[in-house]
Amino acid sequence: MSTKKSAFSCQSCGAIHFKWAGKCPDCNAWNSMVEEFPEGGASHFTRISDEKKSTKNSSTKKIELVALTGEAQDFPRIKTNIGELDRVLGGGLVQGSVVLIGGDPGIGKSTLLLQTAESLAKKKNQIIYISGEESVDQIRLRAKRMNVHEDAIQLAATTNVSEIIESIRPLPGSLRSPTLPQGEGNSPVIVIIDSIQTMFIEELSSAPGTVSQVRAAAGELTIFAKKNNITLLIVSHVTKDGQIAGPKVLEHMVDTVLYFEGEKDLHFRILRAVKNRFGAANEIGVFEMNEVGLSEVSNPSELFLTSYEHTTSGTAVFAGIEGTRPLLAEIQALVSPSFMPTPRRAVVGWDVNRLAMIIAVLNSRFGLNLFDKEVYLNVVGGLKIEETAADLAVACALISAARDIALPSSTIAIGEIGLTGEIRMVSNLEGRLKEAAKLGFKHCLIPQANEKNKNFAALKKVLPELEFSLVKHVRDLGKFFRKN
Ligand SMILES: [Zn+2]
Repeated sequence: MSTKKSAFSCQSCGAIHFKWAGKCPDCNAWNSMVEEFPEGGASHFTRISDEKKSTKNSSTKKIELVALTGEAQDFPRIKTNIGELDRVLGGGLVQGSVVLIGGDPGIGKSTLLLQTAESLAKKKNQIIYISGEESVDQIRLRAKRMNVHEDAIQLAATTNVSEIIESIRPLPGSLRSPTLPQGEGNSPVIVIIDSIQTMFIEELSSAPGTVSQVRAAAGELTIFAKKNNITLLIVSHVTKDGQIAGPKVLEHMVDTVLYFEGEKDLHFRILRAVKNRFGAANEIGVFEMNEVGLSEVSNPSELFLTSYEHTTSGTAVFAGIEGTRPLLAEIQALVSPSFMPTPRRAVVGWDVNRLAMIIAVLNSRFGLNLFDKEVYLNVVGGLKIEETAADLAVACALISAARDIALPSSTIAIGEIGLTGEIRMVSNLEGRLKEAAKLGFKHCLIPQANEKNKNFAALKKVLPELEFSLVKHVRDLGKFFRKN
């Protein structure tokens, strides 16, 4: 038996515990604890890389202190020429940065990366695609299906991190500074690791996919990439059963974290930045999945409204902001009688607790009783909305569904609802309204509080086609839902 002290690490959040538990005390995930035997005891969950060890022996350099007021240099960026991806990255890949792309297995991460590789290779970048998931033949077949014919993309199927690093190291010109001119032979190197859960470091006894392996492998690759000014794209699977360590474990290590989301049976996908040292977080890119791969959707609002009919009850359109991008979304509600002691509330794409709050506010401040009704709420198209500015649209959808009266046609609703029933101001009204006008909406339900904003009068002049209904309180909503 090994004398090493073992520990249990949560495969969902990476927390380390010395006792096993059915439920992780940190993230509340069930069955996510896995026993691991980290090298050097439980306190050493990441291995010190060879590079780090060697620098420890050399004489310590003094750091250079500079003035704050000095000229700042822009990060050298590599445009992928995939507009939606560049947008999410904040204007392209930052050379030498590490980007993590998380998502459910089979959602299309490899497809996205193969297309990115093609686009980058066309611009004379050096691309190395390391797959631990598929064999070289499988990747070649996939590339053929997708019409990717770029000889400049170099492939390898392996899972051994030390071997990967050794193989990439001798590349001519891999040790260079970002200030050197780009071009053939001296072009940026981009390495794609698909996926980090298949990678392993021999010295660690844990299985690939466990927290200690995933962390150590990512750490080793990141240090190597940073040192050599290599841009690293790491694929990470998200699993609900907690059998393998997810991207959460790595988020703090990398520069940028993107999530690729979508329902498998729906054909579009959303790429969302949840962390970005070089750009805005929450920025989204929208793609459509077809037989040959992913194509960009440059006007996503249209996509999320395709099924919208102006005369249906139980729907309302919300003008949201995702990152810096305005996005219209349709919210549908269904209210039906319940024969259960606790009626069902089911939500797709919004927060269930927020729905409960809106239902309670509508009950006490508007007089809409849904306590003996089942309530279903759905954001069309698998979009996930987190903004509280969607409250008003949700309230409208609920009232509309309960009374079976549609909102006036071509109406959008924006506003946060407080517990007293007041409608609170929203940010970036201009961006929201411009998007609504662009898509042909005519009538806007907006918070009265926004009228005080000095830009509001100017905005009305810029968008003369829009008609405004200013609402102060949920009780003002009654007039929009009267039967003729
Ligand atoms: Zn946990």
